[in-house]
Amino acid sequence: MRAIQMVDLKTEYQRLKKEIDTAVIDVIESAAFINGKPVQDFSKALADYLNVKHVIPCANGTDALQIAMMALDLQPGDEVITPSFTYIATTEVVALLRLNPVFVEVDKQTFNIDVESLRKAITPKTKAIVPVHLYGQSCDMEAIMQVANEHNIPVIEDNAQSIGGDYYFTDGTSKKTGTIGTIGTTSFYPAKNLGAYGDGGAMFTNDDALAQRLTMIANHGQSKRYYHDVVGCNSRLDTIQAAILNIRLQHLDKNIAARIKAADHYSDAFKDHSIIQPPFRAKNNRHVFHQYTLILNSDRKDLRDDLSAYLSGKKIPNMIYYPVPGHRQKMFETFGALEYKLAVTDWLTERVISLPMHPELDEEQLQFIADNVLAYFN
Ligand SMILES: *Cc1c(COP(=O)(O)O)cnc(C)c1O
Repeated sequence: MRAIQMVDLKTEYQRLKKEIDTAVIDVIESAAFINGKPVQDFSKALADYLNVKHVIPCANGTDALQIAMMALDLQPGDEVITPSFTYIATTEVVALLRLNPVFVEVDKQTFNIDVESLRKAITPKTKAIVPVHLYGQSCDMEAIMQVANEHNIPVIEDNAQSIGGDYYFTDGTSKKTGTIGTIGTTSFYPAKNLGAYGDGGAMFTNDDALAQRLTMIANHGQSKRYYHDVVGCNSRLDTIQAAILNIRLQHLDKNIAARIKAADHYSDAFKDHSIIQPPFRAKNNRHVFHQYTLILNSDRKDLRDDLSAYLSGKKIPNMIYYPVPGHRQKMFETFGALEYKLAVTDWLTERVISLPMHPELDEEQLQFIADNVLAYFN
């Protein structure tokens, strides 16, 4: 059996080596390192794939969130609603811009923003809602957009973990995750479902004026060369990364299919177990399995760490995404974070464990992993 990795970036590279090496060398030979043609080509190809009007590339997924919030012209003290159960980038940029993060609860099955909790958190100061499509599963966007539209609040979808996901509306239509809200953001961090060989990110929108603002803010607030209309930042997707992403985008759907197949294999092995709870898949979307995350449905405090150590001992990598939710981070103490009571978030935080998930896992590896997880409980 091949060694098991949490994420495998080498195997696909070996398959695509010739094509990728040529694309990288072409950029070096052209010396168009910044804003070279592959950057425009990739933005266009991604816009076509997502069926969205504008894709604005930037340096990483954290910048994408920050620039999106800057483009909405939020003012210090404005409230931004986000789940507490997410990667720190989502909530950190809120505080960085001197806005107030307001943490809400997640759904116990999907790990995604709980719409009732969202509804209750809205105040006259709420100026943005940031749902996070965690682990590859879409939030309930139809319900979220309904709440947002009732109050006329813009929505920024943090789609860093779910690029390629589909959301199904009750009228039978569907949209790609990240293209439903006012702005969508993503990350091309290498381990993401569509990763570069370094950092990268992008924002999506169907709004022409917003697209112009996002582009301007990502480029020093510049409207025309050396004329700066608003305070911006310097956030670019470099040409070499765009050239690589152009190739990797062509393999995204195939890679998602392989992730789903791996998830099916795991979930089949864990079905009907009294403690191991495989990921719930809501009918309103196609889960693209950035992570395969189990809930250990038990109140035994040491259970998860013990299973983690057991698996590590069998050379099965595993991770806890995320051990500390936003409302328990020291960073947010000055935002009154410690006063939050988010029972579901705390419950999940203590019980989640993620297994290896990537398109290169073979049946032998998947079976070995599943067998060992089950063996631990026997
Ligand atoms: C990875 C990630 C980000 C940040 O992306 P970077 O490119 O690392 O800055 C933001 N939000 C979520 C949910 C992520 O998983």
